[in-house]
Amino acid sequence: AQPNPEAGAAVKAADRAHVFHSWSAQELIDPLAVAGAEGAYFWDYEGRRYLDFTSGLVFTNVGYQHPKVVAAIQEQAGRMTTFAPAFAVEARSEAARLIAERTPGDLDKVFFTNGGADAVEHAVRMARLHTGRPKVLSAYRSYHGGTQQAVNLTGDPRRWASDSGTAGVVHFWAPFLYRSRFYAQTEEQECARALEHLETTIAFEGPSTIAAIILETIPGTAGIMPPPPGYLAGVRELCDTYGIVFVLDEVMAGFGRTGTWFAADLYDVVPDLMTFAKGVNSGYVPLGGVAISGAIAETFAKRPYPGGLTYSGHPLACAAAVATINAMAEEGIVENAARIGASVVGPALHELAQRHPSVGEVRGVGMFWALELVRNRETREPLVPYNATGEAGAPMAAFAAAAKADGLWPFVNMNRTHVVPACNVSEAELKEGLAALDSALSAADEFVDR
Ligand code: PLP
Repeated sequence: AQPNPEAGAAVKAADRAHVFHSWSAQELIDPLAVAGAEGAYFWDYEGRRYLDFTSGLVFTNVGYQHPKVVAAIQEQAGRMTTFAPAFAVEARSEAARLIAERTPGDLDKVFFTNGGADAVEHAVRMARLHTGRPKVLSAYRSYHGGTQQAVNLTGDPRRWASDSGTAGVVHFWAPFLYRSRFYAQTEEQECARALEHLETTIAFEGPSTIAAIILETIPGTAGIMPPPPGYLAGVRELCDTYGIVFVLDEVMAGFGRTGTWFAADLYDVVPDLMTFAKGVNSGYVPLGGVAISGAIAETFAKRPYPGGLTYSGHPLACAAAVATINAMAEEGIVENAARIGASVVGPALHELAQRHPSVGEVRGVGMFWALELVRNRETREPLVPYNATGEAGAPMAAFAAAAKADGLWPFVNMNRTHVVPACNVSEAELKEGLAALDSALSAADEFVDR
């Protein structure tokens, strides 16, 4: 596309005058005006193109403007743009069928929502009604969404300003060996001690008061921390022992991101409820949902489920989901994420870690990777303090600016950068992005203790 700075300036001016942005001090942000996007790239009105290592907010799993998904949305819009949720509608039925076909175990019924947070809200409501118990256990270092219950469950600082303290939420520590809360030296120790800690938490909270334990299968925004082998199976066992509903939040990790349809597949674990959103239709139209086990579906077989929403299973969103899932299957996109995650991204990031003293740890799988940046590899002091704002965040800002100057749009959260491009990114695109990442890490290295 031709550069068109005047059009970009008008877009930006209206944005600055009228758009109130998420999670931001409105006068301290400077949103880029985006002119277009395709595949793994987007570009601005000045003609600068960026390789997107963020997939938006980790949702464009099939890249931008996938022709099959765009065509399906256009076709659905021409045929039946919308319809109320109480009816059986082809796009909705087919999306539910394709999802249920892929979800693990007997998660065969799907309740559709508009996104991830409301999926979490409904999963918790289902668990409370199913068990008749009030509390929910969730992990520190987690993100479950911005609505009231979901943000209370969240274990990162986005919770603080909205924490009601009365939402029946108890936080615990999930395993994370690099910053172990359990003085562990090995994954085995971390796993065993994290499970012991969780069981003690259950005992002291009172098992008969706990409706659900919710975990991201692989925590995403909080740092992409694949759990040690055996942890999720151990949580499953605790849930079975104490009659607690096990909820896995796959809003970010699901639909191909980890090189499997769901991250749960990597660990051979079956939850009672599973939340999804984002990758289900690559975020082309807002959609989320809860996949529901047979036992929980049975609770609401004769008794009404007291919850719903106007756009539950919106036909446009569901048509996008059908096309996305079919494209992923036809084009081997999940397999692509697994293959080049293991053969290109993992080895390249480990190689960068050897050369860049700012890289403390590399973690991930598929198209779901994090680099933990530190000031000091021995002490593991984060490159910026936890939840740094303003000047304190300067090192990560310098890293991000260097990446952008090189045509790479990086994902930055606290002291981490995540490598989360589209799951159908090519090897050549990845290599271009990894080269830009290499030079941007040199900017981060400047802040390392010497
Ligand atoms: N759960 C997880 C694991 C997420 O990563 C997110 C969003 O990033 C959410 C829930 C909330 O989803 P949404 O922003 O669609 O409400």
